[in-house]
Amino acid sequence: MTTALMRKIKKGDTLRVVSGKDKGKSGKALEVIRDENRVIIEGVNIHTRHQRSKKQGKKGERVHLAMPIHASNVLVVCPSCKKPARVGFQKIENVKTRICKKCKSEI
Ligand SMILES: [Zn+2]
Repeated sequence: MTTALMRKIKKGDTLRVVSGKDKGKSGKALEVIRDENRVIIEGVNIHTRHQRSKKQGKKGERVHLAMPIHASNVLVVCPSCKKPARVGFQKIENVKTRICKKCKSEI
């Protein structure tokens, strides 16, 4: 199910985290998981995984992975006014576009 919330976020958007442990961070949306209402944001919600080396005698690697966070915890950063903004929609000649509710420019 795609909720209205998820229609507001697109892959490649700059997102600002507004609640949770990563509050205040921002980054690029790497992946949008619409079915779960979650997004993976570059540099946000990083979990470290230890990966054992396949070669003997070599140290295992630590891999940093960005885990998905819930979309209700983020706002889209408007490319025009550079502020985290609520996203609205407007219809011009039957084409629906996303707009920033602050400066009204198209996102
Ligand atoms: Zn704006």
